[in-house]
Amino acid sequence: MMTVQFTCKNCGSGIHVYPEASAHKIECDICKNVQEVVFDHNHEQGILKDCPCCSRKDFYAQKDFNRKLGVMLFVLAAIVSTVMLYFGINPLWYLSTFIVLYALDFVLFRRLKQIAICYKCQTIFRDVSNIHEIPDFNHEMNDRIIYSDHNFHGKPLDHH
Ligand SMILES: [Zn+2]
Ligand SMILES: [Zn+2]
Repeated sequence: MMTVQFTCKNCGSGIHVYPEASAHKIECDICKNVQEVVFDHNHEQGILKDCPCCSRKDFYAQKDFNRKLGVMLFVLAAIVSTVMLYFGINPLWYLSTFIVLYALDFVLFRRLKQIAICYKCQTIFRDVSNIHEIPDFNHEMNDRIIYSDHNFHGKPLDHH
């Protein structure tokens, strides 16, 4: 099922919801601010055509990279290698910790799913069933949408 991560317009917190055509309002868990959303039956089936937050049709796809996880792995490797050094374990093991970390990072990154993001309002969509229709990030589109409020109506500039 598709999940949608809105950004609270009041405090900037993430608001995670499952699309429901009957839901018209979402509430922020942190500041209790309520904002309007428009879900349709496409959303319920995981099909992304219109943004439920700003009603635009311009999205880009990217890997769901979890920066926190990357940092955690790095800290873990640093701790493990420090402990190894403390106990006088062969420094080669110290090196291998980072090699393992690198490999793990590589595997994790390759397994990451594609997510879709709305250019206009930065709403994030996970488990989108038509993700293959959504193009990669385009700098020119982003600049024109963010700085000149241009609307591409779902027709990307760079259409292959
Ligand atoms: Zn909030
Ligand atoms: Zn949007």
